[in-house]
Amino acid sequence: MADPTTRQPCVIVTGGAGFVGSHLVDRLVERGDSVVVVDNVVTGSWDNLAHLGDRIGRVEADVSTGLGLDGLPAGPPAHIDAVLHLASPASPPAYLQRPLETLAVGSEGTRQALEVARVHHARFLLASTSEIYGDPEVHPQPESYLGNVNSIGPRSCYDEAKRFAEALTMAYARAEGVSVRIARLFNTYGPRLRAEDGRVVSNLLTQAMEGRPMSVYGDGTQTRSFGYVDDTVDGLIRLLDSDVEMPVNLGTPTEFSVLELVEAVRRVTGTSAEVVHLELPADDPTQRQPDITRARELLGWEPKVGLMDGLARYADWLAGQA
Ligand code: NAD
Ligand code: UDP
Repeated sequence: MADPTTRQPCVIVTGGAGFVGSHLVDRLVERGDSVVVVDNVVTGSWDNLAHLGDRIGRVEADVSTGLGLDGLPAGPPAHIDAVLHLASPASPPAYLQRPLETLAVGSEGTRQALEVARVHHARFLLASTSEIYGDPEVHPQPESYLGNVNSIGPRSCYDEAKRFAEALTMAYARAEGVSVRIARLFNTYGPRLRAEDGRVVSNLLTQAMEGRPMSVYGDGTQTRSFGYVDDTVDGLIRLLDSDVEMPVNLGTPTEFSVLELVEAVRRVTGTSAEVVHLELPADDPTQRQPDITRARELLGWEPKVGLMDGLARYADWLAGQA
């Protein structure tokens, strides 16, 4: 069995104690990779990885000040194959509460992770986001779309941090020869997305399951494209293993308005819970749908889990947490 505390080649996952990161770690361990997770558990939890016991290495560190690999019991890994950089608050309430930390982890945290990749001649994968497209004027969004971000709005701490992270990643590729991958993730949901995370799928499902009114921001006509976490992780692994150095959208290209999501949640949970309309947050994008031609053609990737199936699986997990 792979052991990250020995001096075997290994994969570093920043943000690996979070929602997407912990599923990614599961897949890497399953295939025999030796994994070290670096996380400050600001929005994640080591509980997400408890089932892996001593099969992985864990470092509790704020990657904005360094990855802290010296803190591993057997010392830093002698050889690192890949650095997967997922560390960042991701839910709007989480990053709006921590704008400075979010900018720090997207900038200095990304530089720290890229430095480890440079020194070890390791592949580097950045978990970027559809937020780099802002409130898109091109629909659906191909990777060639340059985006429409308000650089001074409240969401800019996240959007611009990720845009800077992409720029830094490309600069390390061009100036230092680091082998890079950039995944632009669209809205992902599934088990281990915390009930209190604050994103729309966790909010609506939790409210419906508890018979509380479902919170719809604004009139609910804004759209998103929701992807199940297993599909997202499959795309991340394919991208990591590929030689594709251009950004790649990973998302499920079926678009739903928030009100359509409410209907799906009602069907899955059998609830008759009402809707309560709350104020639309500033700069909330009006539409979002990935063009996944590049992922299909270059990675052979196709999302498989539909919304109703995915919501049912996620609802089962939430019920088990209660
Ligand atoms: P999450 O909040 O569950 O996970 C983020 C993890 O990063 C957490 O474990 C958190 O503790 C850790 N972290 C945050 N700041 C850190 C720091 N300074 N140092 C060390 N660790 C830190 O969110 P998620 O949904 O799993 O998102 C994972 C990544 O994917 C993020 O980079 C996010 O921007 C990106 N992403 C996610 C989605 C989605 O819909 N889930 C969409 C687009 C992009
Ligand atoms: N939203 C909502 N009710 C909620 C949480 C979010 O109507 O309880 C809306 C939000 O305004 C946005 C969409 O759902 O239009 C997706 O929000 P989320 O926070 O999940 O992700 P993001 O805005 O980053 O895409």
